Amino acid sequence: MDEVNVWQSFLSQINDKVSSLSFNTWFKGLKLLKISDNEIIIADPGKTIKDQLTIYYKDLIDETLIEITGKSYKMIFKDENMYEPPEIISVNNISVVNTLEIDKKKINDYKSNLNPKYTFDNFVVGESNRYAFSSSLAVAQNPGKLYNPLFIYGKSGLGKTHLMHAIGNYITENSNLKVLYTDADTFMNEFVKMTRDTGDKDQNLSYIELFKNKYRDIDVLMIDEIQFLGSATATQQEFTNTFNSLYYNDKQIIICSDRSVNDLKMFEERLRTRFNWGLKAIINVPEYELKVKIIKNKMKNIDSMMDLSDDIIDFIASNCGSDVRNLEGSITRLQAYAAIMNIKNLKLEDAIEALDEYANGRGTFTDNSIGKIMSIVANYFNLSIDDLTGKRRSKEIANARMIAMYLCKLLTEETLERIGLEFGGRDHSTVIHACEKIGDDVKTNGELEKIISELKVKMSE
Ligand code: ADP
Ligand code: MG
Repeated sequence: MDEVNVWQSFLSQINDKVSSLSFNTWFKGLKLLKISDNEIIIADPGKTIKDQLTIYYKDLIDETLIEITGKSYKMIFKDENMYEPPEIISVNNISVVNTLEIDKKKINDYKSNLNPKYTFDNFVVGESNRYAFSSSLAVAQNPGKLYNPLFIYGKSGLGKTHLMHAIGNYITENSNLKVLYTDADTFMNEFVKMTRDTGDKDQNLSYIELFKNKYRDIDVLMIDEIQFLGSATATQQEFTNTFNSLYYNDKQIIICSDRSVNDLKMFEERLRTRFNWGLKAIINVPEYELKVKIIKNKMKNIDSMMDLSDDIIDFIASNCGSDVRNLEGSITRLQAYAAIMNIKNLKLEDAIEALDEYANGRGTFTDNSIGKIMSIVANYFNLSIDDLTGKRRSKEIANARMIAMYLCKLLTEETLERIGLEFGGRDHSTVIHACEKIGDDVKTNGELEKIISELKVKMSE
């Protein structure tokens, strides 16, 4: 590092370490004259500042210089007329230049960001996530070849991020491909930082180059929580470029979203079109059986002496919502409860008390119960959940689907968007239509009224 770099890094680090008032008062006006082997020579700033620096800030200055150069310097003050000072970029640019230096280093270091904890082996499969699971495995076994992009969507806590990491871990174990997992927020922050004007045209270009290289020089790009790109037009454009570059070079792209492609309303049309090129896989809310399997699996994997009786498992599966994080959280909670209360065999009453916060209250439907409503309605009409979430439009299915949507709106706190999403990624206007239609018909159609009330009874059983 030459002396100008040392000095700029020094000021930038001090700027990070002290308040802006202190920085502006004591450091900002300092003028470097020369850095020699073991001395750093500063133009004499006058007694007050000199005293402050040599007494109050001495340790901070010494320590910062060691951090930057790896050795210690003595700071001395001289009359500036005795030196020809080196040319220095103005102080105002300093922190920009230096954080960019650091970012540049970070962006150059390749890291997959994969969490080895999430694998296909420990992903529990059921009706609601089977399609997403098998699509993910297929992509992991044939990256860039089968489905591109893979677009996984579904509400929070259903295992999207888990599946992404599982794909990444599988690929890195079985090939030499370069995998990169990131989320839309990180992508955007890096993009914004890299394109920030440094005041130097060549440097601006080289940072943008770096950014491009990072995201285009990989074989598998995974972007989680893509919905957060919705409000960022410039980043969306850059993402489209990245997408094109990878796509046309047969590199695999995997995207996760909390809503369907059609519900990514703030996205440019051309990006949505691209998301539609490949395979879209929804994860629905877990059905009761899957929740039971997940709870049992979790019990098997934790190091616990605690055993959960079937009625407790049933209680958790029926009352703790459909976010898998919540299911896992309730088990942890029970463990803690059992330990604190010194109970060996938890009884249902204990569990109900312990899970007070997690449970919605038995038999009442507040949130997260779309899956349950679907399964009750499907059962009632002798249909499958796939019929309700699928595309078939026979009168019978369409009618059951509308009734189920109506009940979801009536009995849960879910938004229209969310309900549409769970019903196979339909638009919220479809849900509005269903609610209005059934809501109107039920007033005049005695048979429909009877069906609805029978369904409501089943739901409170
Ligand atoms: P999302 O990204 O959809 O919000 P996550 O992938 O972060 O959800 O999942 C939340 C938690 O639930 C994670 O700890 C994950 O391992 C777990 N999880 C979700 N679905 C399953 C599943 N089918 N089998 C096992 N664990 C699951
Ligand atoms: Mg996630």
